[in-house]
Amino acid sequence: MRQDTKFEKMFAHIAFGLKEKLSNDEPEQYRTGLLLRQGINMYCALAVQYVTQTGDELKEYLATLNETEMICKIFTLPVREWFSKWDEEAIAELQSEAFWEMEPLIYLIKNEKSYGLTGECLDYLDATENDLSAIDEHKVYNLMREKLSQENYVAVRRLLIENPLLTNRKRNNFLINCNNDQYIKDIFEFAYENIPEEMYRCPNCGWTISFKGYQPQCCNFDCVEGKKFDKKNLSKVGDEFDLRLKHGVARYISYPGKAELEIEDFCKQLKINCELWPEMDRYDIKVMFANGACWGIDVKTVVNPYILRDKIKNDNQFYNANINKGFYVIPDKIIKKNNAYLKICNSVITKNNFRCISMNMLKKMIKKELNNG
Ligand SMILES: [Zn+2]
Repeated sequence: MRQDTKFEKMFAHIAFGLKEKLSNDEPEQYRTGLLLRQGINMYCALAVQYVTQTGDELKEYLATLNETEMICKIFTLPVREWFSKWDEEAIAELQSEAFWEMEPLIYLIKNEKSYGLTGECLDYLDATENDLSAIDEHKVYNLMREKLSQENYVAVRRLLIENPLLTNRKRNNFLINCNNDQYIKDIFEFAYENIPEEMYRCPNCGWTISFKGYQPQCCNFDCVEGKKFDKKNLSKVGDEFDLRLKHGVARYISYPGKAELEIEDFCKQLKINCELWPEMDRYDIKVMFANGACWGIDVKTVVNPYILRDKIKNDNQFYNANINKGFYVIPDKIIKKNNAYLKICNSVITKNNFRCISMNMLKKMIKKELNNG
C-alpha cells in the first residue's frame, strides 16, 4: 500500500480538479471549481513551507499563484518544473512520487480560452482510484464482473471493444441472442449514449472526434496528438450509427481492448489455443501451447512507466494465476516514446517467471515457443 502523502493529496486534488472544472458547463459556478481551488490552496500552503524565497520575494511569488495563472503557466509544464523554486528537502521527497516524472497535465486551447487534459493526466486519473465521482467505466466493469457468466462477460466485452459506435439494430440482435438478459441491457445503458451533433469518425480508434475551435478531441490523446485534422478530411458520423460508447468506456475499455484482441487474433492465426479474460478477468489472455506451456498476458496501455510500476508492484491477482509464465505487454508505440519503459517496470517485478515486454517481443516469443513444441 502506498502512503498518502501531503504532496500526493495536493497533486490528486489538482488533477481531479482540472477534470471536474472542465466537465462542467458553467466553470465559474462556485462549487464546480472547489476541488481545483482546494488543490491550489494545498500547493500554496506547501510553497510557503518549502520555497527558498523570503520577504517581498516570497510575497511576489505567492501573488502569481492564482487559478488562471496556474492553469496557463504551471499546469502546462512537466510536473517537476512546478517545483523549480522549492528547496532540496521538498524535492527529495517529491522525487519519490509517481507523478514526479509526469509530462504536463493540460494543454491550452487558445482560441477557446480553455484547456484539454493530456493523455498522461487521464492515465493518472485512471490509475488513482480515488476519483470522487462514480465513473461510467467503473459501473460497466462492476456490472459485468458481478452479474454476467464468463461466457456472456467475454461476449459483451468483445462487443464494447469492437463497436465504439453501434446501431440499435445490432444492439437488439445481440440482446435477443442473450435472451434479453436484463443485466446486459443495464450494461448497455451505462456504456452507450446517443451520438451528439457534429461528430466525426476517428481514423485511429473508431470513436468520435469533436472540435473545440480547431482543436480535435477524441477519447484518447494518442488519437489526436501531433496530428492536423481538418473537418474536410474526416468523415462525419451520420445516420449509419445510433449510439456511441461514453467517453470513459471508450477510453478505458474499448481502446486498450484492441491490443487484447490483436493478441488473440495473432494466436488464432498460428492455431494456438487462447482464452480472453479468464477467471472473470483475473488477467487479459491465457495462451495454451500444444507443448503444455501456459502463459498469462496482461496488456497495459499506461503511457507513464512510473504509474504502471506502482500499479504492478504487488499485483497478486496476476501473480497468483495458474500459469507457467506471466507477461505485462505494452504496445510498441508507447515503448518508442520512452526507451527505459520496460526497465523501469521490470525493476519492481520480483517473481522470476513474470516480465514486462513489448508487443513485438511477445509475438516473437510466441512463435519461438510454438517451434519448441
Ligand atoms: Zn480516437
